[in-house]
Amino acid sequence: MKIVIATKNKGKIKEIKSFFTNLPEVEWLTFEDFENFPDIDEGSISFIENATLKAKSISEFTNTIALADDSGLVVDALYGEPGVKSSRYAGENATDEENRQKLLGELGNCNSLKDRTARFVCEMILWDPGKGLLKTSSGVCEGCIGFTEKGSGGFGYDCIFIPRDYDNKTMAELSQHEKNLISHRGKALKNLKNFLKEKQ
Ligand code: IMP
Repeated sequence: MKIVIATKNKGKIKEIKSFFTNLPEVEWLTFEDFENFPDIDEGSISFIENATLKAKSISEFTNTIALADDSGLVVDALYGEPGVKSSRYAGENATDEENRQKLLGELGNCNSLKDRTARFVCEMILWDPGKGLLKTSSGVCEGCIGFTEKGSGGFGYDCIFIPRDYDNKTMAELSQHEKNLISHRGKALKNLKNFLKEKQ
């Protein structure tokens, strides 16, 4: 079975592929396998709507089953921000570093980790160009926002996110395997993997 990953985010692609190394029945395709792979405009207010839009559009463009992941960081003290705007929190073409610095700045008055609670959220959609929706899957990872960047693994907000019960280590200080076990994306992928195994 061929599945195209509906994103140009290399961090997401690496994590999704790393999760399926022992499922050789699936051949993973990416934006690099197609010419003019489109950027999908995410206008919606929910992760699930964005994931559906990405999966459907890319599946139709490639005529292949598509897997979309819409994910982000929800911070309680910021009333849920950056949320669906996580990738462009500091502006339309902001870098991960700019987004993290903006977030740390916004939390400037929150001096205790107890006031900096947050969670990563992930919604996944598997879409077939002929049959439509095949599967939805979601995952959440609770934690809090640290005061400084630590660690070099992962991507995005990983180096400022401290998963709950992880002894003050940031997500970026975990190995890919450890991150997959507890992350929002890892949880969503586990559910999806069971579905794909049953489909074989
Ligand atoms: P999307 O392409 O709209 O789903 O953007 C998701 C954004 O959320 C990414 O660009 C990151 O900023 C952030 N994000 C999602 N998942 C993770 C993760 O596992 N680690 C760190 N940041 C993440």
